[in-house]
Amino acid sequence: MSNESTIDPLLISVLGGGQLGMMLAEAGAPLGMHFRFLDPSPQAPTATFGELIVGTLGDTDALVRTAQGSAVVTYEWEGVPATGAASLESAGHLVRPSIRALEVSQDRLSEKNLFRSLGIGVAEFAAVDDRSGLDNAVDAIGLPAVLKTRCGGYDGKGQVVLQDRADVGPAWEALGEAGPLILEAWVPFDRELSIIAVRSVDGDTLCWPLVTNEHRDGILRTSTVTAEGDNTTLRASAEKYVGRLLDELDYVGVLALELFDVGGQLLANEMAPRVHNSGHWTIEGASTSQFENHLRAIAGWPLGPTTLKMPSVMVNCIGSLPEAAAIGAITGAHLHVYGKSLRPGRKVGHVTVVAPDTAQLHERLTALREVLPPDIG
Ligand code: AMP
Repeated sequence: MSNESTIDPLLISVLGGGQLGMMLAEAGAPLGMHFRFLDPSPQAPTATFGELIVGTLGDTDALVRTAQGSAVVTYEWEGVPATGAASLESAGHLVRPSIRALEVSQDRLSEKNLFRSLGIGVAEFAAVDDRSGLDNAVDAIGLPAVLKTRCGGYDGKGQVVLQDRADVGPAWEALGEAGPLILEAWVPFDRELSIIAVRSVDGDTLCWPLVTNEHRDGILRTSTVTAEGDNTTLRASAEKYVGRLLDELDYVGVLALELFDVGGQLLANEMAPRVHNSGHWTIEGASTSQFENHLRAIAGWPLGPTTLKMPSVMVNCIGSLPEAAAIGAITGAHLHVYGKSLRPGRKVGHVTVVAPDTAQLHERLTALREVLPPDIG
């Protein structure tokens, strides 16, 4: 059991040391918090943002050293092995959000089954365990459809779109060896949305305004939040969905739910039991950022207001970065560099642009597009 007398109430342990951990540390520093991260890489983005324990996220000894003496253990990556996080909980450490949230989010089938059991709309889906199972699933669901790995896929990786019967064989060739699969009906969505919510230890829940997201090649490119895009009916529906999830999971912290808007009906795609890329705009655009509220929640503090301060657009920097000085010359533009080596398809930073109104936001975005390398965003 951890010894309470040696616990530092302002020390937060984070499993994972990527950019989400970095932004948690940036939000926590002014609150007097300090951080210990666990990451396999000594060059992790959080290396200069706190103490870094270098080790795999399944390494029991490294997990114990990371959690030792901290007020709470959280995670910034949903791939953290649930057994490792559970062993910390069994040893007496507070782990927030719940291990169950981690487990559910690691398997698209469990996630979809949970959504369905809570009355949250989802596209038709079926588990696929072998080649004949894929044929049966195609018969049941129809085409077009998307074949996805149940576990471990992210940013569109581990996914194949099937347009017609001729695609079934190649899809199986591509993913048949990749572990258990799920076939989902293709959703002819009008737009992609996400709702970011936070729940406190006392069960208080707040949501930020609805975010409109654009993806390309399965990777999030932009997130936009304006009063106009925050449709009241859709927002009420999204808040109802996410509220059910948070309560069911006895959740503490920030959770993101990705949604498809299909003719005014919301279908849930997936959830992330952590701070989320589509919530980065909250640093500049909301009264309290997703990072600060995640920390407040897991520390057992009251939540801060989640209201929109200014219309905002976040543009991901994928593979390369713009000139920092050029971004600095644009009023309302804020660059965040993650300190990662540049690689095609890798999220290496983002820019959030805020403005007092939508017209000025578009002007500033046009200025931003002029200085972004063509492959970004
Ligand atoms: P995911 O990894 O499930 O978030 O998928 C990445 C992106 O692929 C989504 O943000 C969508 O743009 C697209 N996508 C995934 N599943 C579907 C689907 N069933 N129908 C249409 N587009 C999808």
